[in-house]
Amino acid sequence: MENQFRQYPLEEDILGALDALGYTQPTEIQAAVIPSILNGRDIIAKSKTGSGKTAAFAIPICNFADWEQNTAQALVLEPTRELAFQVKDELYAIGRFKRLKVPVLYGGFPMEKQILTLKQKTHIVVGTPGRVLDHCKRGTLDLSKVRYVVIDEADLMLDMGFIKDVTRILDLMPKRRNLGLFSATISREVMDISWVYQRDPVEITVRADEENKPDITQYRLDV
Ligand code: ADP
Ligand code: MG
Repeated sequence: MENQFRQYPLEEDILGALDALGYTQPTEIQAAVIPSILNGRDIIAKSKTGSGKTAAFAIPICNFADWEQNTAQALVLEPTRELAFQVKDELYAIGRFKRLKVPVLYGGFPMEKQILTLKQKTHIVVGTPGRVLDHCKRGTLDLSKVRYVVIDEADLMLDMGFIKDVTRILDLMPKRRNLGLFSATISREVMDISWVYQRDPVEITVRADEENKPDITQYRLDV
Protein backbone atom coordinates (compact mmCIF):
# COMPACT_ATOMS: atom_id res chain seq x y z
CA MET A 1 0.00 0.00 0.00
CA GLU A 2 1.21 3.48 -0.80
CA ASN A 3 2.57 5.53 2.09
CA GLN A 4 -0.25 7.86 3.20
CA PHE A 5 2.26 10.66 3.76
CA ARG A 6 2.41 10.93 -0.07
CA GLN A 7 -0.78 12.99 0.06
CA TYR A 8 1.34 15.93 1.26
CA PRO A 9 3.68 17.89 -0.97
CA LEU A 10 6.82 16.45 0.64
CA GLU A 11 10.23 15.89 -0.92
CA GLU A 12 11.24 12.35 -1.93
CA ASP A 13 14.06 12.45 0.63
CA ILE A 14 11.55 13.03 3.41
CA LEU A 15 9.09 10.40 2.15
CA GLY A 16 11.95 7.91 1.90
CA ALA A 17 12.97 8.61 5.48
CA LEU A 18 9.36 8.10 6.64
CA ASP A 19 9.28 4.76 4.80
CA ALA A 20 12.51 3.78 6.56
CA LEU A 21 11.02 4.73 9.93
CA GLY A 22 7.91 2.69 9.18
CA TYR A 23 5.67 5.75 9.34
CA THR A 24 3.01 5.00 6.73
CA GLN A 25 -0.10 6.64 8.19
CA PRO A 26 -0.16 10.12 9.73
CA THR A 27 -1.56 10.27 13.24
CA GLU A 28 -4.50 12.61 13.76
CA ILE A 29 -2.36 15.46 15.09
CA GLN A 30 0.08 15.01 12.21
CA ALA A 31 -2.74 15.15 9.65
CA ALA A 32 -3.77 18.53 11.05
CA VAL A 33 -0.35 20.03 11.77
CA ILE A 34 1.68 19.06 8.68
CA PRO A 35 -0.41 21.04 6.13
CA SER A 36 -0.64 24.03 8.49
CA ILE A 37 3.13 24.31 8.94
CA LEU A 38 3.70 23.70 5.22
CA ASN A 39 1.34 26.63 4.62
CA GLY A 40 3.40 28.84 6.92
CA ARG A 41 0.84 29.13 9.69
CA ASP A 42 1.33 29.65 13.41
CA ILE A 43 -0.27 26.82 15.36
CA ILE A 44 -1.40 25.81 18.80
CA ALA A 45 -1.48 22.02 18.93
CA LYS A 46 -2.87 20.10 21.83
CA SER A 47 -2.88 16.33 22.00
CA LYS A 48 -1.92 13.76 24.53
CA THR A 49 1.51 12.28 25.07
CA GLY A 50 2.41 9.63 22.52
CA SER A 51 0.21 11.02 19.75
CA GLY A 52 3.12 11.88 17.47
CA LYS A 53 3.59 15.60 18.02
CA THR A 54 7.33 15.43 17.33
CA ALA A 55 6.99 14.17 13.76
CA ALA A 56 4.07 16.56 13.28
CA PHE A 57 6.48 19.48 13.37
CA ALA A 58 9.65 17.59 12.37
CA ILE A 59 8.29 16.48 8.98
CA PRO A 60 7.39 19.95 7.61
CA ILE A 61 10.48 21.56 9.18
CA CYS A 62 12.84 18.98 7.64
CA ASN A 63 10.96 19.40 4.37
CA PHE A 64 11.49 23.16 4.09
CA ALA A 65 15.08 23.12 5.41
CA ASP A 66 17.50 24.10 2.68
CA TRP A 67 20.80 22.24 2.89
CA GLU A 68 22.65 25.09 1.19
CA GLN A 69 21.86 27.56 3.93
CA ASN A 70 24.47 27.56 6.67
CA THR A 71 22.63 29.08 9.63
CA ALA A 72 19.66 27.77 11.60
CA GLN A 73 16.33 27.72 9.74
CA ALA A 74 14.29 26.32 12.63
CA LEU A 75 14.56 26.38 16.41
CA VAL A 76 12.94 23.79 18.67
CA LEU A 77 12.84 24.53 22.39
CA GLU A 78 12.50 21.64 24.84
CA PRO A 79 12.18 21.75 28.65
CA THR A 80 14.76 19.02 29.35
CA ARG A 81 17.96 17.66 27.92
CA GLU A 82 16.40 14.21 27.53
CA LEU A 83 13.52 15.55 25.45
CA ALA A 84 15.95 17.67 23.43
CA PHE A 85 17.90 14.52 22.50
CA GLN A 86 14.77 12.54 21.65
CA VAL A 87 13.55 15.30 19.37
CA LYS A 88 16.99 15.71 17.80
CA ASP A 89 16.98 11.98 17.00
CA GLU A 90 13.61 12.26 15.28
CA LEU A 91 14.62 15.37 13.29
CA TYR A 92 17.83 13.63 12.33
CA ALA A 93 16.02 10.46 11.24
CA ILE A 94 13.47 12.36 9.17
CA GLY A 95 16.11 14.66 7.67
CA ARG A 96 18.81 12.06 7.17
CA PHE A 97 18.60 11.75 3.38
CA LYS A 98 18.89 15.54 3.21
CA ARG A 99 21.92 15.25 5.53
CA LEU A 100 20.47 17.87 7.86
CA LYS A 101 22.62 19.03 10.75
CA VAL A 102 20.75 19.19 14.04
CA PRO A 103 22.91 20.40 16.94
CA VAL A 104 21.56 20.11 20.50
CA LEU A 105 22.25 22.90 22.99
CA TYR A 106 21.73 22.25 26.69
CA GLY A 107 23.21 23.38 29.97
CA GLY A 108 25.91 21.50 31.82
CA PHE A 109 27.81 20.70 28.63
CA PRO A 110 30.97 22.67 27.75
CA MET A 111 30.04 25.89 25.99
CA GLU A 112 33.23 25.79 23.88
CA LYS A 113 32.32 22.44 22.31
CA GLN A 114 28.86 23.71 21.41
CA ILE A 115 30.40 26.85 19.92
CA LEU A 116 32.65 24.72 17.70
CA THR A 117 29.62 22.71 16.56
CA LEU A 118 27.71 25.89 15.79
CA LYS A 119 30.56 27.13 13.59
CA GLN A 120 29.76 24.25 11.24
CA LYS A 121 26.69 23.91 9.08
CA THR A 122 23.55 24.17 11.21
CA HIS A 123 20.07 23.58 9.81
CA ILE A 124 17.83 22.97 12.81
CA VAL A 125 18.74 23.82 16.40
CA VAL A 126 17.20 21.95 19.32
CA GLY A 127 17.84 23.19 22.81
CA THR A 128 16.80 24.05 26.31
CA PRO A 129 15.90 27.73 26.78
CA GLY A 130 18.66 28.77 29.20
CA ARG A 131 21.52 27.51 27.06
CA VAL A 132 19.98 28.73 23.80
CA LEU A 133 19.65 32.20 25.34
CA ASP A 134 23.30 32.03 26.51
CA HIS A 135 24.43 31.39 22.96
CA CYS A 136 22.25 34.20 21.63
CA LYS A 137 23.74 36.67 24.09
CA ARG A 138 27.30 35.61 23.25
CA GLY A 139 26.60 35.91 19.57
CA THR A 140 27.48 32.26 18.96
CA LEU A 141 24.01 31.29 17.69
CA ASP A 142 22.63 33.16 14.71
CA LEU A 143 18.82 33.06 14.72
CA SER A 144 18.36 35.71 12.04
CA LYS A 145 17.40 33.13 9.38
CA VAL A 146 15.00 31.10 11.52
CA ARG A 147 11.64 30.62 9.79
CA TYR A 148 9.92 28.39 12.32
CA VAL A 149 10.12 28.18 16.10
CA VAL A 150 8.60 25.33 18.08
CA ILE A 151 7.91 25.54 21.78
CA ASP A 152 7.42 21.90 22.64
CA GLU A 153 5.82 20.78 25.92
CA ALA A 154 4.74 24.41 26.36
CA ASP A 155 2.93 23.79 29.63
CA LEU A 156 5.87 21.94 31.13
CA MET A 157 8.13 24.75 29.96
CA LEU A 158 5.99 27.24 31.91
CA ASP A 159 5.73 24.99 34.97
CA MET A 160 9.49 24.66 35.08
CA GLY A 161 9.92 28.43 35.07
CA PHE A 162 11.53 28.75 31.64
CA ILE A 163 9.05 31.23 30.32
CA LYS A 164 11.28 34.32 30.80
CA ASP A 165 14.07 32.70 28.81
CA VAL A 166 11.64 31.60 26.11
CA THR A 167 10.16 35.07 25.64
CA ARG A 168 13.61 36.66 25.64
CA ILE A 169 14.68 34.31 22.86
CA LEU A 170 11.53 35.17 20.89
CA ASP A 171 12.18 38.89 21.44
CA LEU A 172 15.68 38.50 19.99
CA MET A 173 14.38 36.87 16.81
CA PRO A 174 13.17 38.25 13.50
CA LYS A 175 9.50 39.18 13.60
CA ARG A 176 8.75 37.36 10.38
CA ARG A 177 8.97 33.86 11.77
CA ASN A 178 6.21 31.40 12.51
CA LEU A 179 5.62 29.90 15.92
CA GLY A 180 4.15 26.55 16.90
CA LEU A 181 3.06 25.82 20.46
CA PHE A 182 2.80 22.09 21.28
CA SER A 183 1.50 20.71 24.53
CA ALA A 184 -0.53 17.95 26.12
CA THR A 185 -2.58 20.67 27.87
CA ILE A 186 -3.07 24.31 26.98
CA SER A 187 -3.16 26.61 30.00
CA ARG A 188 -3.97 30.30 30.31
CA GLU A 189 -0.25 31.05 30.38
CA VAL A 190 0.25 29.26 27.06
CA MET A 191 -2.57 31.34 25.59
CA ASP A 192 -0.82 34.48 26.90
CA ILE A 193 2.27 33.53 24.87
CA SER A 194 0.04 32.92 21.88
CA TRP A 195 -1.57 36.38 22.13
CA VAL A 196 1.78 38.12 22.24
CA TYR A 197 3.82 36.03 19.83
CA GLN A 198 1.45 34.46 17.33
CA ARG A 199 -0.51 35.82 14.43
CA ASP A 200 -3.83 34.24 13.53
CA PRO A 201 -2.86 30.79 14.83
CA VAL A 202 -4.57 27.58 13.73
CA GLU A 203 -5.81 25.87 16.88
CA ILE A 204 -5.66 22.10 16.72
CA THR A 205 -7.03 19.90 19.47
CA VAL A 206 -7.09 16.15 19.26
CA ARG A 207 -9.28 14.78 21.99
CA ALA A 208 -8.10 11.61 23.62
CA ASP A 209 -11.28 9.68 22.81
CA GLU A 210 -11.04 10.58 19.11
CA GLU A 211 -7.56 9.19 18.84
CA ASN A 212 -6.42 5.71 18.14
CA LYS A 213 -6.37 3.67 21.29
CA PRO A 214 -2.95 3.73 22.93
CA ASP A 215 -0.88 0.61 22.59
CA ILE A 216 -1.17 -0.34 26.25
CA THR A 217 -2.60 -3.55 27.66
CA GLN A 218 -3.45 -3.57 31.34
CA TYR A 219 -3.44 -6.75 33.38
CA ARG A 220 -4.64 -7.36 36.89
CA LEU A 221 -3.49 -10.12 39.12
CA ASP A 222 -5.55 -10.83 42.23
CA VAL A 223 -3.41 -12.07 45.07
P1 ADP B 1 4.20 13.10 21.64
O1 ADP B 1 5.23 14.17 21.39
O2 ADP B 1 2.83 13.48 21.14
O3 ADP B 1 4.16 12.65 23.06
P2 ADP B 1 5.94 11.43 20.06
O4 ADP B 1 6.20 12.40 18.97
O5 ADP B 1 7.01 11.25 21.07
O6 ADP B 1 4.58 11.81 20.80
O7 ADP B 1 5.56 10.03 19.35
C1 ADP B 1 5.27 8.87 20.05
C2 ADP B 1 5.74 7.64 19.29
O8 ADP B 1 5.00 7.46 18.09
C3 ADP B 1 7.20 7.70 18.86
O9 ADP B 1 7.82 6.50 19.25
C4 ADP B 1 7.17 7.83 17.36
O10 ADP B 1 8.26 7.18 16.77
C5 ADP B 1 5.85 7.17 16.99
N1 ADP B 1 5.22 7.74 15.78
C6 ADP B 1 5.02 9.04 15.50
N2 ADP B 1 4.36 9.20 14.35
C7 ADP B 1 4.13 7.97 13.85
C8 ADP B 1 3.48 7.48 12.65
N3 ADP B 1 2.92 8.30 11.78
N4 ADP B 1 3.43 6.14 12.49
C9 ADP B 1 3.97 5.31 13.40
N5 ADP B 1 4.60 5.71 14.53
C10 ADP B 1 4.67 7.02 14.77
MG1 MG C 1 6.39 15.39 22.57
